Amino acid sequence: FWLSCLDHFQKELNAQQFNTWIKPLEIDLALNGDNKVVLIAPNRFVSQWVADNFIMHIESMAKTYFDKNIQFHLKLADQTDTKNNALNQMPQSALSPLEVKPEPKTVYQPTKKNLNGLNPNFTFNNFITGKANQLARAGAIQVAESPGVAYNPLFIYGGVGLGKTHLIQAIGNYVHDNNKSAKIRYVHAEKYVSDVVSAYQHKAFDKFKLYYHSLDLLLVDDVQFFGGKNRTQEEFFYAFNALIETHKQVIITCDTYPKEITGLEERLVSRFGWGLTVAVEPPELEMRVAILLKKAEMEKIRLDENVAFFIAKHIRSNVRELEGALKRVLAFSRFVNQDITLDLAKEALKDLLAVQSRQISIENIQKTVADYYKIKVSEMYSKKRSRIVARPRQMAMAIAKELTSLSLPDIGEAFGGRDHTTVLHGYRKINELRVSDPLVSRDFNALILILRG
Ligand code: ADP
Ligand code: MG
Repeated sequence: FWLSCLDHFQKELNAQQFNTWIKPLEIDLALNGDNKVVLIAPNRFVSQWVADNFIMHIESMAKTYFDKNIQFHLKLADQTDTKNNALNQMPQSALSPLEVKPEPKTVYQPTKKNLNGLNPNFTFNNFITGKANQLARAGAIQVAESPGVAYNPLFIYGGVGLGKTHLIQAIGNYVHDNNKSAKIRYVHAEKYVSDVVSAYQHKAFDKFKLYYHSLDLLLVDDVQFFGGKNRTQEEFFYAFNALIETHKQVIITCDTYPKEITGLEERLVSRFGWGLTVAVEPPELEMRVAILLKKAEMEKIRLDENVAFFIAKHIRSNVRELEGALKRVLAFSRFVNQDITLDLAKEALKDLLAVQSRQISIENIQKTVADYYKIKVSEMYSKKRSRIVARPRQMAMAIAKELTSLSLPDIGEAFGGRDHTTVLHGYRKINELRVSDPLVSRDFNALILILRG
């Protein structure tokens, strides 16, 4: 039964959710009673989440399967007989349950450069949550409340401008506010690389180690920059081990999943997966609106909801672009000394929107997608059906549907006179895969970003 449950959830959830919440669960065979099944969760975070979100599903599936009521209970893994890693060694008492989430009290301060690399403007308070980032935020808060004991490392990944830096900076600021003597270091991966280079030049690796190995909290941003830099990876491997062994928190962000970082040593790839790995995804429309309203409030400007909707509808790629558009509208409104109305916003963003729609022709999409997958453009309209060309072709169709106002038959025509049902099928297939396959989702988002310029 459990196997069929797993099978069901694997189809229902995206890979990220499945791997985070369902896969770690085990059935406690020792305790199987008649109408009672105990599931073992590796930690309180997973346990709480499963209890809130999945137990009812599982119970109703069991009812259909066995034709009787079976109750599922959750139990935390016994700390002594689980694998020897820091995640499982955490004292349960130190973990606060998920529902306790006091927001940090932060006063808004001007940006100032700190020695530890933290920017006090990035806080949990001004981080808007929605489906796209709620797991990442929940994990981040958990780690900020009990650094070194919850998940180690915390690995946050996602595309550009989706709030990774904001989130790890917020963790740093939260820890700093709670414990002024904590030794915290936020470092962008490129800066870390140049620190290694300069340690090399000055033969100062002892000093380098002394510093990095004695931190309480190390935040490394954009770790994909370590790819191919072997000496950096070696130094980081030592630092990582030293910190994790002494239960000091390590937090990493990256533009991809650990396994997909090109040129990263296997031992680091596997270590990056020791703790909790969570994604930040592109925000949906309502969340983009909420972000705009929040940013406007922070800037103390009045922004009508319909204006926010207009901006959010047209600026879809990421939060950074969204902020850019809002700044533009604001600057324009100050320049012409008029309130922000829908017309004013349209006027202010005119060039931006024109550039967007002009660039995105179907030929452009076909060429961009073909280049991305390293196939010939002609294969976009050829009759070939091999997977190597069929998937990119479907991707191009889906993107054409998404980014242009062309009808399905128009799109089919542009792809070698294919039927509109073929286009629809391709579009649906890609949308399905975007949920279940992180690679497809990443490719789709990357292509949209490239095409939008
Ligand atoms: P990344 O590091 O993923 O490229 P950033 O953290 O630099 O993205 O975010 C880009 C901009 O968008 C920042 O100004 C950040 O404050 C803002 N931002 C991103 N996500 C959110 C969010 N959920 N709520 C509020 N602001 C956000
Ligand atoms: Mg960043």
